[in-house]
Amino acid sequence: MTVLIVGAGFAGSTCARVLAEAGHRVHVIDKRDHIGGNAYDRYDEHGVLVHPYGPHIFHTNSKRVFEFLSRFTDWRFYEHRVLAQVDQELYPIPINRTTLNKLYGKDLTETEAQAYLESVREPREAIKTSEDVVLSSVGHDLCEKFFRGYTRKQWGLDLSQLSAGVAARIPTRTNDDDRYFTDTFQFMPAAGYGEMFRRMLDHPLITIELGSDFEQVRQDKSYSQLVYTGPIDAYFGFKFGRLPYRSLRFDHEHLANVEQVQSVGTVNYPNDHDYTRITEFKHLTGQRHSGTSIVREYPQAEGDPYYPVPRAENEALFKRYAELAEQEKGVVFIGRLAQYRYYNMDQVVAAALKAAEDFLSAV
Ligand code: FAD
Ligand code: UDP
Repeated sequence: MTVLIVGAGFAGSTCARVLAEAGHRVHVIDKRDHIGGNAYDRYDEHGVLVHPYGPHIFHTNSKRVFEFLSRFTDWRFYEHRVLAQVDQELYPIPINRTTLNKLYGKDLTETEAQAYLESVREPREAIKTSEDVVLSSVGHDLCEKFFRGYTRKQWGLDLSQLSAGVAARIPTRTNDDDRYFTDTFQFMPAAGYGEMFRRMLDHPLITIELGSDFEQVRQDKSYSQLVYTGPIDAYFGFKFGRLPYRSLRFDHEHLANVEQVQSVGTVNYPNDHDYTRITEFKHLTGQRHSGTSIVREYPQAEGDPYYPVPRAENEALFKRYAELAEQEKGVVFIGRLAQYRYYNMDQVVAAALKAAEDFLSAV
């Protein structure tokens, strides 16, 4: 049996590998001219390894996901750190004890920092929106300084218009831990994501066709099974209307003969500028180079679909598509766009491993 896989990102590539190893012929198409989906990386014209679609930092608590990917890459230990610029000063984000002490000119112990947050937080009966999450954990002032502006820029929506899960991605701490993530496994692929994908898809039963859009091959009936990882509304011809996806414009810049422009991988700009953050890739990759390459992210409504927009009305629309998807025989819908989920890379791999397993037990 030949399986057609639409999309060569984490969802498609993981499924491709598992199905090929189980003896199925797999044909992977992607409309882009490269594999890896949004996690793709490449060397820019100055020889710096960059992420064209924004910074991708791998982190997971799943041993299974880590072990699966470890078959295709060695790893470089990397813990991501982020600072947020507020009133021209830089503070650790997630908010921690250092953030509070520097911002308010205090010298709080951990217990005192807890008591401080307790005194400013605005408890809510029910936590439904991202505003509920932020106000109930850090109160008004920290919300305005660190969250409301960033969120407005990133999503074009107020915190109160987004599901709780969006802001809940960012914890609040009262100790000095300034890591962005606290997962058990925090590593970057040692030779880059591109190389990891090349190895994942390097299998005698896998063929790859780049620059090929599903719309051009959708009538091709030689495939008995389909794994679809593109936007679910596009698959169904937008018949219930478009699902909102947030897009970004990436502004890449190389600075020759500049060793480093910022002290951490990413600096967030909650209230200043039209961009949300600047990432300097050498921090992430550990590459040595006489110059440095950075990317600024400008959120926008139009353009490639990068983020599903988590809010109740979008979830309701997605459910209508998901019901159609369930009736679609011989098609697996998987990944961030097809499942309309604000998934990290590891969550996509976990979902794809499960979907591939289900597929194999059904055929
Ligand atoms: P994608 O990577 O989007 O792959 C889908 C593929 O399908 C694409 O290559 C697309 O071209 C192709 N496709 C779509 N429609 C068609 C069609 N009709 N025909 C042919 N091909 C088609 N996750 C983390 O864990 N850590 C991070 O630090 C992180 N940072 C991120 C930063 C940004 C700016 C963004 C946007 C995402 C980030 N993510 C991060 C999330 C991560 O990118 C996703 O979880 C993951 O890449 C999703 O994989 P996927 O295969 O589901 O989708
Ligand atoms: N967020 C914020 N201020 C920050 C960082 C994050 O308000 O300094 C909010 C914002 O709504 C953002 C969400 O938390 O979209 C999730 O942030 P994360 O860094 O996980 O976003 P991603 O890396 O997925 O773009």
